[in-house]
Amino acid sequence: MNSDIERVLVSEEEIAEANRRLGEQLSQDYAGKNPLFVCILRGAAMFMMDLIKNIDIPLEYDFMDVSSYGGENTVSTGDVRIIKDLDTSLRDRDVVIVEDIIDTGFTLDRLVELFNTRHAKSIKIVSFLDKPSRRIKHVHVDYNGVKIPDEFVVGYGMDYDERYRNLPYVGVLKQEVYSTK
Ligand code: 5GP
Repeated sequence: MNSDIERVLVSEEEIAEANRRLGEQLSQDYAGKNPLFVCILRGAAMFMMDLIKNIDIPLEYDFMDVSSYGGENTVSTGDVRIIKDLDTSLRDRDVVIVEDIIDTGFTLDRLVELFNTRHAKSIKIVSFLDKPSRRIKHVHVDYNGVKIPDEFVVGYGMDYDERYRNLPYVGVLKQEVYSTK
């Protein structure tokens, strides 16, 4: 285990199991629909690539990079800025938004609102992690991998100051990593 990690919250085995379960469900629900999977960069990249390997129906995907205003690393401030927009039109598409984690819900709330203005036929959300105790905006998560307590996590695509994204599991950082920054 990486020496900056205090403990593992979601192991590689649990990640693989969640991806199998979500992939099976999505394959059933989107059969015959050619859905467009929209990956929210950068945190959801690893999750989406694993997830779609478990989906056995035709699909397309695209990427969007957004960030919260405010500049704080661990706090969502409510407004999202588009850093890289989609290349694909959403008009009449069955859209599946793929997120790494839903926390306050601000990011997904704004994205659903935006995608509605682009005339998507349907919009559903798959979030690998969910921190329900932190929710401020009510957002319906249609497909969830794992629910976690209110802790800041890294790994499996998720970062702290752009580090730890490549860890193959989800973990909690040791307190001293923050205090020595
Ligand atoms: P929300 O807008 O729901 O508060 O936050 C969503 C975004 O905040 C996620 O896509 C992610 O980028 C970031 N975030 C929220 N909680 C965590 C966390 O525990 N760890 C990391 N690395 N990012 C988080």
